[in-house]
Amino acid sequence: MKKIAIIGSTGSIGTQTLEIVRANGDLQVTALAAGSNVELLEKQIREFSPGIACLWDEKKAEELRQRTKDLPVKILSGMEGLVEAAAGTDCEILVTAVVGMIGIRPTIAAIEAGKDIALANKETLVTAGHLIMPLAKKKGVQILPVDSEHSAIFQCLQGNEGNRIHKILLTASGGPFRGRTRKEMEGVRPEDALKHPNWAMGSKITIDSSTMVNKGLEVMEARWLFDVDLEQIQVVVQPQSIIHSMVEFEDGAVMAQLGTPDMRLPIQYALYYPERRFLAGERLDFWKMGQITFEAPDLENFRGLALALRACREGGSVPTVFNAANELAVHLFLKGEISYLAITDLIEKAMDHHQRMAEPKLDDILNTEQETYDYINRQFRA
Ligand code: NDP
Ligand code: MG
Repeated sequence: MKKIAIIGSTGSIGTQTLEIVRANGDLQVTALAAGSNVELLEKQIREFSPGIACLWDEKKAEELRQRTKDLPVKILSGMEGLVEAAAGTDCEILVTAVVGMIGIRPTIAAIEAGKDIALANKETLVTAGHLIMPLAKKKGVQILPVDSEHSAIFQCLQGNEGNRIHKILLTASGGPFRGRTRKEMEGVRPEDALKHPNWAMGSKITIDSSTMVNKGLEVMEARWLFDVDLEQIQVVVQPQSIIHSMVEFEDGAVMAQLGTPDMRLPIQYALYYPERRFLAGERLDFWKMGQITFEAPDLENFRGLALALRACREGGSVPTVFNAANELAVHLFLKGEISYLAITDLIEKAMDHHQRMAEPKLDDILNTEQETYDYINRQFRA
């Protein structure tokens, strides 16, 4: 039995991770954590019997405690609980499936405790990659990518140890508004942006995909995971989402990983790496597929990607500002409080306003996050 813990178990990645657990029978869940979804977490506890479960929200955690009185499970809450769920059990691997920078502390705690990380929570690497990657190396733990593009790159690298990456070709669907101008995106409502053409995901990442902020976060994620320069990463729009990413080696050979858009594959690969297990589901049918097409990203109209590349180039604390500004702006957009285009406008303003720190420590990152929130709130009220 391989023991795993999952933070963010009630979300899109979390529930698909539990589908993998259910389908295989040789994974044991030691801890589960979520934000506030009492009903689903209770169901998951009853099915997977973790020793520890955590809800961020203290009141909801108390409700869960009452509802699971008949079970031998310890119910925790808040950051302390999240950290204990991530690092306090005897799991071998932690799946980081929470959304946002909330994942930083538990991920660091799990690495400190020697757990391998199946990393979906890209915001953690984007903002704290310079702390996380050296720490993982020092502790001898693996950071196994769950994000489909990064899993694809990781899969392309297998058997090529020792060969330098010449270029990473990071594919992007282009999202639901591909081909539109900024003017044509003025009136976009949350329900329009929540329709992704190929992937069913949580709401924050779906909005990020529509603005191409997600691709920008993935560029930064790729830099940390594969230790390449920004100039070695080329974003390629591939609207059918069949090629999940590619690697070009020094001799010009390009390796690609293809598949149907199904997150269970990268999740399962991370959990069993280097083993490949059977995965039930739809397969690619090349006779029926028709075509795979490619184009360059539109940096002029999709400012989210352009700003991310700037944040990546500037480095230090700037990616944190980019990320935090986006997290809050997306939240405000989903609540109907700001317009769609205001998301990238606010990110740009916050980046312009920020005084860059070259080597932010964990506290600096968390302070920068708070300062960015305060700044955006002031802008938004003004
Ligand atoms: P969802 O919104 O579907 O799920 C988020 C999860 O995090 C939920 O379980 C939620 O709990 C939990 N959560 C939220 N806030 C807190 C908190 N304060 N403390 C503890 N748990 C919390 O997101 P996704 O699954 O879509 O995405 C998760 C991460 O994976 C993101 O970083 C995303 O970028 C990345 N990712 C996702 C992909 C996808 O296909 N979905 C693909 C590639 C990467 P609750 O339900 O109680 O709110
Ligand atoms: Mg992705």
